[in-house]
Amino acid sequence: MSNRDFVFNKINEQEKWRKSCINMIASENATSNWVEKAYLTDFMHRYAEGTPYHRYYRGTKIIDELEEKANKFFAKKLGSTFADVRPIAGAIANMAVMRAFTQPGDIITSLSVPAGAHSSHSKGGVAGLLGLNQVKLAFNNETFEIDTDLSSKIIRHARPKLAIVGASLILFPLDIKGLRDACDDVKCKIIYDAAHVFGLIFSGKFQDPFKEGADLLSTSTHKTFPGPQGGLIAGNVNEESEWPQVQRGIFPKILSNHHLHRIPALLLAGYEMEEFGKVYSLQILKNAKALAEAMAEEGFGVCAESRGYTESHQVAVDVRKLGGGKPAAEAMEKADIIINKNLLPWDKLNLANLTNPSGIRIGVPEMTRYGMKEGEMKDIAVFFKRVLISKEEPTKVKKDVNNFRKEFQKIHFTWEMKK
Ligand SMILES: *Cc1c(COP(=O)(O)O)cnc(C)c1O
Repeated sequence: MSNRDFVFNKINEQEKWRKSCINMIASENATSNWVEKAYLTDFMHRYAEGTPYHRYYRGTKIIDELEEKANKFFAKKLGSTFADVRPIAGAIANMAVMRAFTQPGDIITSLSVPAGAHSSHSKGGVAGLLGLNQVKLAFNNETFEIDTDLSSKIIRHARPKLAIVGASLILFPLDIKGLRDACDDVKCKIIYDAAHVFGLIFSGKFQDPFKEGADLLSTSTHKTFPGPQGGLIAGNVNEESEWPQVQRGIFPKILSNHHLHRIPALLLAGYEMEEFGKVYSLQILKNAKALAEAMAEEGFGVCAESRGYTESHQVAVDVRKLGGGKPAAEAMEKADIIINKNLLPWDKLNLANLTNPSGIRIGVPEMTRYGMKEGEMKDIAVFFKRVLISKEEPTKVKKDVNNFRKEFQKIHFTWEMKK
């Protein structure tokens, strides 16, 4: 086998395997054939430092048009004054915003990582890299909501420059309004990190961060929003003093190349979501709810029972009694169901818990796009039970999983593509 064949064989192996798995990684999704077609283009070879029509290089007139259109499109959809699609990832979007509104030594507030914060919000991630001190907001471990009263006190006392609202483990909308007064008192910007729920927000099926008082929104473009991997920032901030700071945070402070081939694919995914997003997002919410209820019925400790488990694309399950998140996720992978171990809000942030946390996190977006509905969620809950509770040989369950997945090979919520 030539080296070239090795590479292509591995690609084929991955594609075949992943199309026979039930993928329930909550941060993942699959793009449509149209978005894929818009992604692999000449733009992947190009540079366009700067903003549309203000570039340092020549040869950018077509990307200028597309990027300006994308910026305007997302700003309009989100109800913000500005948007910028250049951040190549959600973490980079967060970094650019943090850089724009803070100096080393400043304080930011965010949730704790076990309560759901992304690593970029924390001392161990981007925030720490920028020399920021993270003060944690108060969180209710039962109801998975921010304790707004206590958190407002924390904000008034800590006087942060930036309050991050948003999470990677996110079951319900998070209270922005309730923090607004405290943030105004200490002149602190609220940034809503929409990475996970951007597709739901775009479709009007989660919460409306700008209406609820956020100043900025950062996001990934590939989680519930089925676009190419990347990020964006939107803002309702001052045009002269603040937005240019955000844009300079992106370039030249962090990025040179912003991976131009993402831009047309992202805009196309936006148009796709404009047409199909409401039905898709509604099905995601129904599927997550159905999965949570079925998992509870099968005997799992599904989190946030008192609130009906979930209003997002995610289900969180406490698997401490079953040995913890690590062995659970590993056993499910042997059955070709792909999930991740996850810290739960009561877990202390230490090495033992990071290695084997209390929970698993299950996401429904990708399987929803492949056409699964509430009935299939019940079948999936049974697969979980067979592996984790009945302790059936995972490789036996795998055969049934692969068979089950055969029926769901085509991506829905997009335009027909003639071969
Ligand atoms: C995934 C995630 C990010 C980071 O996004 P990337 O695109 O992976 O860099 C940031 N914030 C939250 C809340 C996330 O879940």
